[in-house]
Amino acid sequence: MNFILFGPPGAGKGTQAKYLVKKLGNFQISTGDMLREEIQKNSEIGKRIVSDMDNGNFVSDKIVNTLIENVLFDPKKKDRLIFDGYPRSLAQAKNLDILLKKSNQSINFIFFLNVNKETILKRIEKRKILEKRSDDDLNTFTKRYDTYMETTKPILDFYSKNLNFHEIDGSSKIEEITAKIDSFINV
Ligand code: AMP
Repeated sequence: MNFILFGPPGAGKGTQAKYLVKKLGNFQISTGDMLREEIQKNSEIGKRIVSDMDNGNFVSDKIVNTLIENVLFDPKKKDRLIFDGYPRSLAQAKNLDILLKKSNQSINFIFFLNVNKETILKRIEKRKILEKRSDDDLNTFTKRYDTYMETTKPILDFYSKNLNFHEIDGSSKIEEITAKIDSFINV
């Protein structure tokens, strides 16, 4: 089964992805983690993206699409994908469609975790203390949230007509969101 977890930063995509990894043995494909890894390795990509990441801007579609392509054609991960933080633009969504077809796969469930800014700001305050992420300071976070909301609207329009698209109230408790996800996949 392949999944897309969709929703603003801090919506709980990572938490739910980890639940699905444990439950199904799938792979969490977090473009944010992959990009942070490039920065840590100080790779060519890492050097190019560090200022975009620190300022809360999106990294170019070209760079992210290249990272994703490698994942889709990894036989070990076939039909066991959980996209967390990808796609984030219409161009990425269309690219994903092409790569899925080429690799003979499809998305079984798209879960949109919808949360308002105030709820997320409270969560981020906690995460900042726990994870010490450089892009979690309040200004950068607000920028990331706004960028996300502005640029992902076309993706919502693109996916929301699909029968496998489900909107979930992301301000609920973690266990409630998990239960909701389970109710869709355990049928
Ligand atoms: P995340 O860990 O998903 O919150 O992502 C952290 C940061 O990584 C974002 O603010 C962007 O700078 C970058 N990023 C992650 N995923 C993408 C993506 N699919 N497209 C463009 N930039 C991304």
